[in-house]
Amino acid sequence: MQQPRILIIYTGGTIGMIEDQKTKALRPFDFSHLMENVPKVKMLDYEIDNFQFHPPIDSSDMSIAHWQQMARIIDGNYNRYDGFVVLHGTDTMAYTASALSFMLEGLSKPVIITGSQLPIGEVRTDGEENLITALQIAAATDASGEPVVREVAILFENYLWRGNRSSKRSADNFNAFKSNNYPALARIGLGIEYDTEALAKPATGGPLNVVYDFDQSVAILDLFPGLSSATLRQVLSTPGLKGVVLRTYGAGNSPTAKWFIDAIREAIERGIVVLNVTQCFHGSVCANRYVSGDLLSTAGVLSGYDITCEAAVTKMMSLFGRGLSHDQVVEALRRPLCGEMTVR
Ligand code: ASP
Repeated sequence: MQQPRILIIYTGGTIGMIEDQKTKALRPFDFSHLMENVPKVKMLDYEIDNFQFHPPIDSSDMSIAHWQQMARIIDGNYNRYDGFVVLHGTDTMAYTASALSFMLEGLSKPVIITGSQLPIGEVRTDGEENLITALQIAAATDASGEPVVREVAILFENYLWRGNRSSKRSADNFNAFKSNNYPALARIGLGIEYDTEALAKPATGGPLNVVYDFDQSVAILDLFPGLSSATLRQVLSTPGLKGVVLRTYGAGNSPTAKWFIDAIREAIERGIVVLNVTQCFHGSVCANRYVSGDLLSTAGVLSGYDITCEAAVTKMMSLFGRGLSHDQVVEALRRPLCGEMTVR
């Protein structure tokens, strides 16, 4: 049996950080520091290579250029490795996982993103376990020798989640991520229990097609009682704006006031695509349950069903980045591209 070949892409994040002697603030450090703190990795009988971002970043500095860099590394090494582990800060991990899921078309190998809440050099770190479990998942094969995980996923503490279904839910809990609308792909306890029903099962062996381009002409608009007409109109008249993720209340509801609905309708008539995503952690937009949601759909707002905000905004940027027409973008937003939502 050949050793599993895994490529680690180290982008930064708390997992590799050390304390600045002067300020006591955490700052990213290089890959050798990180690996020196996990000697147990050598106990895995894997062939492991790495690629490090220069410099490693705090993921609050994450950008489209970084996503393109990650995708380029995966693309260029796709046939050489059995799986990929991306070490990443937790703050924007769910955005990166979503973005990569839309970029990596035809993916049939594991891309496991992980990080930690405590730096790997700290005694009580969660980073060591997360890194080792992520490597094991990236190397896992089924009875026919095919990868168990064939999608972009986030491994954190006790769970493996679908990347584009995940959100960061805690700033200090070791179980920092959750997917409220989709089951865990695996539970991590004494063993790693995969949920074979929940895992994506694309055919293996096909080519990877990376869609690199994004279009940043999008905005996220969060509703709150007190939102003014001036703010709403200002956002909707942003020069060049093509799409808006509208974060609504409950089952997809918004104010019913004429000034609000008119502003949304006029933006849609100007060609702006508006996608309705709920502010709730759990559940789906059900546009016609209340008059307020119904007014939005009559105005032309699309339902995002149970998509996360992270997946919605990255999906929009990816679709516009492909140079698709307005109607093609609308059509693609109505259906799942890679398991990111459930259409009711
Ligand atoms: N600020 C850090 C980052 O996202 C937080 C973390 O890694 O947990 O890079």
